[in-house]
Amino acid sequence: MRFAIISDIHGNLPALEAVLSRVAELNIDALCCLGDIVGYGPFPEECIRLVRDRCTAAVKGNHDSGLLGESSLDDFNQLGQRALRWTAGVVSQEGLAFLRELPLVTTTGPVTLVHASPANPGAWTYVLTMDVAAESFRALTTDICCIGHTHVPVVIGEDLSINAFRSPQGVDGHPCRFLINVGSVGQPRDGDPRAAFGVLDAAAWTYDLVRVDYDVEGTAAAILKAGLPEALARRLHRGV
Ligand code: ZN
Repeated sequence: MRFAIISDIHGNLPALEAVLSRVAELNIDALCCLGDIVGYGPFPEECIRLVRDRCTAAVKGNHDSGLLGESSLDDFNQLGQRALRWTAGVVSQEGLAFLRELPLVTTTGPVTLVHASPANPGAWTYVLTMDVAAESFRALTTDICCIGHTHVPVVIGEDLSINAFRSPQGVDGHPCRFLINVGSVGQPRDGDPRAAFGVLDAAAWTYDLVRVDYDVEGTAAAILKAGLPEALARRLHRGV
C-alpha cells in the first residue's frame, strides 16, 4: 500500500493544488492529512473542502483546534492569533463541522497518523529533541508514526538514526520503528519554500520526501489582499 501524506496546509490553496496534482501522477492508494488545514493562509474554506473530498484519513492539528475553540488562542503567537481570528470570519459552519469531527490520532495499517507527539496528542508537543522522540516511541503501537507540526521534514529512527528509513522489521535482526515528519504543504520552515509531502510504500518499505513548486507569489498576494499580517506573506518566499 502506497500512502501520500500531507500536513500543515495552513490555508495555502495554490500549494495544496500543486501537491494534489503531483499526487495524481503517482501510484497512490491512500491520501492522508495530518492536520493544520487552516491558520496563517488565505484560503481555509477551500482547503477544508479539498481535504474532505480527497483524503482517505485526516487528523486534527492545533490550529484547527484553536479555530474550533478547543485550544486557547493564548497558546498561539501573535501571528497565529490574528490569522485564526480572521479565519473564524470566513470558514463555513459546514467547514467547522468537518474539523470538529477529526480525531487527534488514527491508525491505518502499520501507520499511526497524528499532528504532534503521539505520547499526548492534545498537548501539541513538538518532536524536536531525542527525549521527546523517545517518549513518542514509548506511546507508539505501530511500526511507523507520521507527524507534522514543526513544518520541518525529518525521519527519526528508534535507534536515534536520522533520515535513514528502512523496513521496521530491520536488517540482520535489528528491528527499528520510525517517526516520519512529512514537512509542510503550505508553510515550509526548512529553508526550502517548495511545498512538501511524504510518499510511504508500506509494502516495499520505502519513504520519499517530495517537494513541489507552487505559486508562492499568488498565495503571498492573497494574504496581503485578505488583510492578514505581511510577515505571513514574506516568510513563504524564504520557506521559514
Ligand atoms: Zn502547523
